[in-house]
Amino acid sequence: MYLKSIEVQGFKSFANKTLFEFHNGITCIVGPNGSGKSNVADAVRWVLGEQSSKQLRGANMQDVIFSGTQNRKPQGYASVAITFDNSDRHLNLDYNEVTVSRRIYRSGESEYRLNGTQCRLKDVTELFYDTGIGKEGYSIIGQGQIDKILSGKPEDRRELFDEAAGIVKFKRRKVAAKKKLESEQANMVRLSDIMSELS
Ligand code: ATP
Repeated sequence: MYLKSIEVQGFKSFANKTLFEFHNGITCIVGPNGSGKSNVADAVRWVLGEQSSKQLRGANMQDVIFSGTQNRKPQGYASVAITFDNSDRHLNLDYNEVTVSRRIYRSGESEYRLNGTQCRLKDVTELFYDTGIGKEGYSIIGQGQIDKILSGKPEDRRELFDEAAGIVKFKRRKVAAKKKLESEQANMVRLSDIMSELS
């Protein structure tokens, strides 16, 4: 699996539809200060479900929408689509290419799509569990993040290793199964109360 392209439109400094295509090897994005290099990484974080506007260097989520310049009107929405080559079926979807897209309007309304079909944020998050790519993944290392990792608590650092080892999805499933078990146990208690009332 590898990242094939990122398409942004109306996202931060990218007013026009802009397509980044990636090929084998290393790609560097270079440019003067403030030209929008970090906005490309922000676009990837955002489309993968980032919910914190602070992480995206804004005050609220609508701040990702192109806000206009002296010569250009603001845009009404921001959209980002990233496409992965999935011919090795690393992602659990039976498609050679997987495109995740997200769009947000000034009204606050927003949507996610997987290969063009509207989906929930949860579907996007679950698809990328244990790949290192999700919004919590280690594939995007922001400025200052290495320091944060090194000086962080061991438990926080552990999360990074769990993701790399591919056990996050099992941990989440364990939590969900435990919750279900607790609720079933509560139902059993209730049922036995009713039965003893009836007998
Ligand atoms: P540096 O090298 O200094 O880290 P950079 O190339 O990474 O800079 P970014 O931080 O990606 O630059 O981009 C900052 C630019 O994006 C600023 O010029 C800012 O005005 C612009 N920008 C951010 N949000 C928006 C928005 N919603 N609408 C229009 N422009 C925006």
